[in-house]
Amino acid sequence: MYAKASGMHIEKGWWPGDTKDEIAIGAVLVQNTNWSNAEKALGNLRRNDMLSMDALANATLVEIETHIRPSGVYKRKAGCLKELAAYFLSVGGIDGCARIQTWRIRRELLRIHGIGNETADAILLYALGKPVFVVDAYTIRIIGRVTGRASEDYAAIQKEAHAASNGDPEVYMRMHAFFVELAKAHCRKVPRCTGCPVFDICGYTEKS
Ligand code: SF4
Repeated sequence: MYAKASGMHIEKGWWPGDTKDEIAIGAVLVQNTNWSNAEKALGNLRRNDMLSMDALANATLVEIETHIRPSGVYKRKAGCLKELAAYFLSVGGIDGCARIQTWRIRRELLRIHGIGNETADAILLYALGKPVFVVDAYTIRIIGRVTGRASEDYAAIQKEAHAASNGDPEVYMRMHAFFVELAKAHCRKVPRCTGCPVFDICGYTEKS
């Protein structure tokens, strides 16, 4: 489907962030909020020299909470960031993950309170460059509508994406970006099917 959807252009570097640490921190901060609020929190951390795993590991919870407040549920996210920073420091930083098998990192990320499948995979893919397809609610909605299969779940969609691709992280990055942008532009709760780049292959019976 992605290959056929040539009507949407996805920029390289779609996920914002100047460093791997920043991308991973952003993946936590954007949970349950929008990028605007996450960016405010990232900006506060940046201005206070705390936009790195080293700095977060050395900061107090109260300091982190203060700076990330604009991202919402800041107490939980602060604890999550502390745990995330501790994990990455224990393996030699994000760059140290290059020598660790993806499933091992994923398992450790999922042990951190506040990190679920989507956040773990976003960190693995966009910060670490591991070949993992990120599934989100947008993806589940679109796949469900296009295929007509009602009960799509995270693991099934990810497995299918992995089986259908060559394992290139760059492809997975662009696929995830495509689903997000498609959901925003066309496949909303009430779909705007006119002009949708996958209109011709979509099996949704109530196309608008
Ligand atoms: S054609 Fe409509 S229902 Fe199908 S993917 Fe596009 S917007 Fe969604």
